[in-house]
Amino acid sequence: MTDRTQQVLDSMKHIIDPDLGKDIVTLNFIKDITITDAGKVAFTVELTTPACPVKEQFRTQCQQAVSALPWVTGVEVNLSAQTRRNPLQAKAPGLAKVGAIIAVSSCKGGVGKSTVAVNLAYSMAALGGSVGIFDADVYGPSLPTMVSPKQKELFQIENMIQPLQHEGVRLMSFGFVPSGNQGGAAIMRGPMVTQIINQLLTSTQWGELDYLIIDMPPGTGDIQLTLAQIIPITAALIVTTPQQLSFVDVVKGIQMFDKLNVPTIGVVENMSYFDCPDNGKRYRVFGEGARRQLVEQFGFKNTFELPIYPELSQSGDSGTPLVVRDQTHPASTSLKDIAELVVREVSILKHAGKSRPKVSYRPGDGLVLSFENGEEHLLHPATVRRNCRCALCVDEMTGEPRLRPEDVDDKVFPKAMQPMGNYAVAITWSDGHDSSIYPYDRLLALAAG
Ligand code: ADP
Repeated sequence: MTDRTQQVLDSMKHIIDPDLGKDIVTLNFIKDITITDAGKVAFTVELTTPACPVKEQFRTQCQQAVSALPWVTGVEVNLSAQTRRNPLQAKAPGLAKVGAIIAVSSCKGGVGKSTVAVNLAYSMAALGGSVGIFDADVYGPSLPTMVSPKQKELFQIENMIQPLQHEGVRLMSFGFVPSGNQGGAAIMRGPMVTQIINQLLTSTQWGELDYLIIDMPPGTGDIQLTLAQIIPITAALIVTTPQQLSFVDVVKGIQMFDKLNVPTIGVVENMSYFDCPDNGKRYRVFGEGARRQLVEQFGFKNTFELPIYPELSQSGDSGTPLVVRDQTHPASTSLKDIAELVVREVSILKHAGKSRPKVSYRPGDGLVLSFENGEEHLLHPATVRRNCRCALCVDEMTGEPRLRPEDVDDKVFPKAMQPMGNYAVAITWSDGHDSSIYPYDRLLALAAG
């Protein structure tokens, strides 16, 4: 490497990727540096995703850093993005060039899963990614109502079905398939449903895609489990409504994805409230609380409220998603936030892998919270047990503890530990208590005293 190339690299070492926590030189983002005799420098910043929310910020920072070198007379910064391929996807040729698959899931129908999936897909496309939507909701395919492509007839090239397209997003739904005389989806049984979804998904030629959004069938039963096993899902986003009951559903959803080692990267609480335009009052139509509980129990930082907006529903019936129709609508802004989160989390997953801290028990030492970089924190089991925040140990309404420190034996120890979602661990204790969930953040805070 020439001295000048090294100087160019060194000048950018202070530019940190906020999500990955490292500088862009160490991360190997800087590629193809060329320097002319006259001092003109050109290079490419290879981002983890084309939809990187801070790409323009990187460009400006790089431009400024390199321009500050005394011999530099001009700087050209190109942006590109790597698209990593999942080897599993080679089994399904139509998915071979898909960078990441994101499942949008809910435990029940009617919570707005499809509305979120479709608007999320278009928001991600607006951020610069190439995006597809696969509507796997065979019982109630809503994609054909929510998005109306001009060309509506499916056709094949070399035995592969070509997805339809609307505003640059590729679309596939059972609802686009002519029903013929085989009877509707309503009479299909589970295994048939999975088979059909699988066939449609894998025989669709998705082409080069950064993100494929899967609108999952509602529920956490066999259909969903089988589907999630067939499709190499990168990450899951769960949609729910605020009722207490939905909290239980979210937990079921997280557990289902956990079984398959798919991280749940966020929860969207849809229909959180309605701001009445007549009197300016906010109505929490479906109650509240589930979101707070998710944050406290699972350590989910990524929870979003999406209020009730009549326009979101109207657009859903009109064939053009609201985020395309009106980018300034508050729902579009919220969906952009969700899209940025998904882009960011997927990029972190690809870079950092699915590493989460490990929690283990070493009799003698206590509970050990260990990180991939070798960092370890020791915790006294009884302290952890005393800090359980489950509904039995803490009054959910007042936040007051129900469990007194003296209720816990100093010798208590964990009998079983199981990761819950991406950010927390569930512990079953020797005293029989089996509803403790600790976000890793909270364990870290406890370790720090
Ligand atoms: P699911 O996919 O969970 O069955 P849908 O996305 O089809 O749910 O939504 C159910 C109904 O609720 C649709 O009519 C949709 O337009 C409407 N809807 C969903 N979310 C909202 C919202 N935030 N505000 C207003 N209407 C919504």
